[in-house]
Amino acid sequence: MNRRLLRQAAVSPAVTVAVVVAVALVCWLVAGWLAERMVRQELDTALGVQRQMTRSVVDNMAEVIASDLSMSRAIPATMAETAVVQQALAEAGHYAASHPSTELARREALQSAPTLAAVDGFLHDAQGFSGFDAIWLVNNNGICIASSNAMEKISYVGIDMRSRNYLSDTLLGAFSETYGVGTSSGEPGIFVAAPVYNDGLLVGAVLAKVSIARLRHWVTHPGTFVSDSNGVVVMAHDSKLEGLAMPGSHVEEMNAVDRVNTYLRERFAELPLHSAAHAATREAPWMPASEAQAFVELPGLRAPALYEHRGGLNSGLTAHLVDPLNAWPELLANQRRDRLLIFLTLTGSTALAAVISISWVRERRLHRASRDLAEQLQAANSLLAAEARHDALTGALSRRYFLNLLRREIDAAYASGRPLCMAIADLDHFKQINDRFGHPAGDRALQHFVETCRAELRSDDAVGRLGGEEFGILLPATSLATGQEVIERLRREVKASVCAGLPSEAYLSVSIGITELAASQDQPERLMSRADLALYMAKAGGRDRCEAMASDGAAPPRTTAATW
Ligand code: GH3
Ligand code: MG
Ligand code: MG
Repeated sequence: MNRRLLRQAAVSPAVTVAVVVAVALVCWLVAGWLAERMVRQELDTALGVQRQMTRSVVDNMAEVIASDLSMSRAIPATMAETAVVQQALAEAGHYAASHPSTELARREALQSAPTLAAVDGFLHDAQGFSGFDAIWLVNNNGICIASSNAMEKISYVGIDMRSRNYLSDTLLGAFSETYGVGTSSGEPGIFVAAPVYNDGLLVGAVLAKVSIARLRHWVTHPGTFVSDSNGVVVMAHDSKLEGLAMPGSHVEEMNAVDRVNTYLRERFAELPLHSAAHAATREAPWMPASEAQAFVELPGLRAPALYEHRGGLNSGLTAHLVDPLNAWPELLANQRRDRLLIFLTLTGSTALAAVISISWVRERRLHRASRDLAEQLQAANSLLAAEARHDALTGALSRRYFLNLLRREIDAAYASGRPLCMAIADLDHFKQINDRFGHPAGDRALQHFVETCRAELRSDDAVGRLGGEEFGILLPATSLATGQEVIERLRREVKASVCAGLPSEAYLSVSIGITELAASQDQPERLMSRADLALYMAKAGGRDRCEAMASDGAAPPRTTAATW
């Protein structure tokens, strides 16, 4: 039975594999979805923290630049107010590109003038405490008339500076701070220029240069760089970026001469600062496009980066920060790990649920099957009991049951003090009926006899098939005289009634012998024997008749002989 159940429960291996694969696939997709939700929350947090840091670094950088340049501007501006500077420029105002004609001759003439030599010393001292690389004065004609480096081998004194772009606005009366590469030194720096007035007339300018090398503290944070007003990277934490042009910057539109004047070079490669949205979503397909747009990439960065900049600072400078997202590798690893863990948890739980469900279903089936089986067994038992109790052909009691009943009725009769009759009936010439009309007709005759008994006897009376065409009849609470009447009535009815299935020329008759229970100590065997004897007498007497035998073995008087 178990094997049959197992066969019922078993499914084909192909279906099992398909179901397992489908469940695993669904678990994998659900795990992916959950892991994405988790990692997106982590990304939001990481981005929030890093954005704050990035903004803070850039803001700090912008403040430092603004403050440094404000201080740098203050010194030339203050010097422009001093009488010594104003008078020196007023006195040397006549020096021009054509007077004296060569740079060397001008330098000698200027340095030999005692007033200007004193100014050189003044500028030198000022340069010493101010932190500038050089401070110098340029007159209205663009000629440097005094300089902090006048004593050095190569000095600015006497140089015609009209072509310097940082000077042009100042000789028109404006302050300026400009990034540029020094024409003489070749060193990049910030040039600060302040106009000088004497008696209300513009007489020249004080210039100061602070080299980029002195300002490197602006870009101490990794990823920081500074661009000038033309979009050229003038300073960067990663020095490889210096001299590159911001994408779409103004320097591309400048003419070649201006580019050379300012930067001592004509061509600028573009800073490869691109959107990293595509690369980021390729690495992390779970990332929303809106978040991915925020990322930029620079060659050499190990992760997509956040980009912040602050423009409009003094000198037209802009502070930039390209800050790689530190948490990026961890986020990618977390997403993969979380997905795997969730997948394993889901498949494990599903497998457990499946095992529990299958066990439950099997247990239910077994339970149902055993219940069905118990019912079948009970039905079979009842059938067996009924079969053991009744004769299958006629429905009369079986021989064994009849004999048991006889014993019980004897006991009951003695217990109650009531009489009991027992008769044996045997169909006459039954063999001939079989022989002439066939065995089924004989069967039908047997059934007809039992049906007639049922119709003629009381419900308390019992009929049992003792064997072949011989039947026992028990008549409880019946005296022998009454019993004789009963069996006589039965004999006549058997003869008179029509047996369906038996031809009319088959004369069915029965011989019956009856006896009664002795007053005491009677036994079933003796009772049977007496009834058998009475039957024998009936057969011997010509058949189709009833005979009685009293409990003492004597034939009772034939009270109803007249009717026989
Ligand atoms: P008698 O008048 O002396 O009783 O003669 P009889 O032919 O009835 O008695 P006998 O003992 O010679 O034959 C009994 C026959 O009953 C023999 C047997 O084939 C038949 N028989 C016994 N059981 C069945 C049965 O279940 N069905 C049928 N059709 N015949 C049966
Ligand atoms: Mg017989
Ligand atoms: Mg017979």
